Amino acid sequence: MKFGTKLIHNGNEIDKQTGAINIPIYQTSTYHQTDVDNQGKYDYSRSGNPTREALENTIAVLEGGTRGFAFSSGMAATSSVLSIFSSGDHIIVGHDVYGGTYRITSSFFNKFGIEITYVDMTDPDNVKNNMKPNTKAVFLETPSNPLLKITDLKAVIKLAKEHDLLVIVDNTFMSPYLQQPLQLGADIVIHSATKFLGGHSDVLSGLVAVKDDALAKKIYFVQNAFGAVLGPQDSWLILRGIKTLKVRLDYQSTSAARLADWLLGQYKISKVYYPGLSSHPGNSIHMSQAINGGAVLSFKTDTEETAKKFMKRVTLAAVAVSLGGVETIASYPYKMSHASLPQTEKDALGVTSNLIRLSLGLEDPDDLIADFSKALELI
Ligand SMILES: *Cc1c(COP(=O)(O)O)cnc(C)c1O
Repeated sequence: MKFGTKLIHNGNEIDKQTGAINIPIYQTSTYHQTDVDNQGKYDYSRSGNPTREALENTIAVLEGGTRGFAFSSGMAATSSVLSIFSSGDHIIVGHDVYGGTYRITSSFFNKFGIEITYVDMTDPDNVKNNMKPNTKAVFLETPSNPLLKITDLKAVIKLAKEHDLLVIVDNTFMSPYLQQPLQLGADIVIHSATKFLGGHSDVLSGLVAVKDDALAKKIYFVQNAFGAVLGPQDSWLILRGIKTLKVRLDYQSTSAARLADWLLGQYKISKVYYPGLSSHPGNSIHMSQAINGGAVLSFKTDTEETAKKFMKRVTLAAVAVSLGGVETIASYPYKMSHASLPQTEKDALGVTSNLIRLSLGLEDPDDLIADFSKALELI
């Protein structure tokens, strides 16, 4: 069955009790038991809820995993996954992972004795050269944010497997439609479903899919113990968003490719970062592990002034953090997502004051080009 069909027919769409073709919002915290000696499948909603379970089963099917988990945010998902490790464990993390992931690994999990080394994952040798006897896992994002750098998933997975390390991939930027790391041998996939899976900038959520039952047991233990679960109403919203994932991303990634081409030809644009461009240094690796370049691109303007003018004058993009919604979102990493980094770190990551990141929405790209031309004072 092809992916678009699976989004609609994956075995989790119909309510078994009533035949409703949308899973109802089971807005309940607890469940009546008719026989205390033989209690039912559900006892308390932190441990299990049918709406959340439909979503959890859906992400497992879409990523090709054995089991899925839904959390109250992407960070709740990442934090819960990292909680399967113990004091003394070492994890190799991409140096340009999502800011919140950098924050919890550098300022939270380190307090509990989990050792972290940050490396540039675009060169798999950096993973190899930083392994230690206590290394337990590799955590990465590809494409990364905000410069859309590409990591060779197969190369890193091969290296990790040779040393019995778990591979954890934050697949938020691609979604399971465009890239499926478990199929390439990764062990755990994490999503901020706040982004493309939800797709409408109206709900926070995190999803996890795992490769095998042993990992599923560990993560279920943390989910139930820690309790950062997704509520039934929000689970329903993500289930609804997922149904249109393919049509949205097909349109959005076509628009992103078109905008990337257009930006390349504009004299006030000094650099365009989009993994779908053949000039992108990671293009061939990316296209070997993903369906297309995705719906996010970044660009640098000739000056900081041009970038700031664009952010002030643009009308068909929300000026905001986040991505993956039906509305185009323009963000200014220097003062938004990466504002708290020291200047030296910003320099190391290439987060300069003339950098803009775009997440393409569902507006007609002709209108976006006309609006951006005005905002950049090209016309
Ligand atoms: C947004 C994001 C997160 C965090 O997700 P929240 O839902 O905001 O907690 C993690 N990873 C990536 C790549 C993201 O874009």
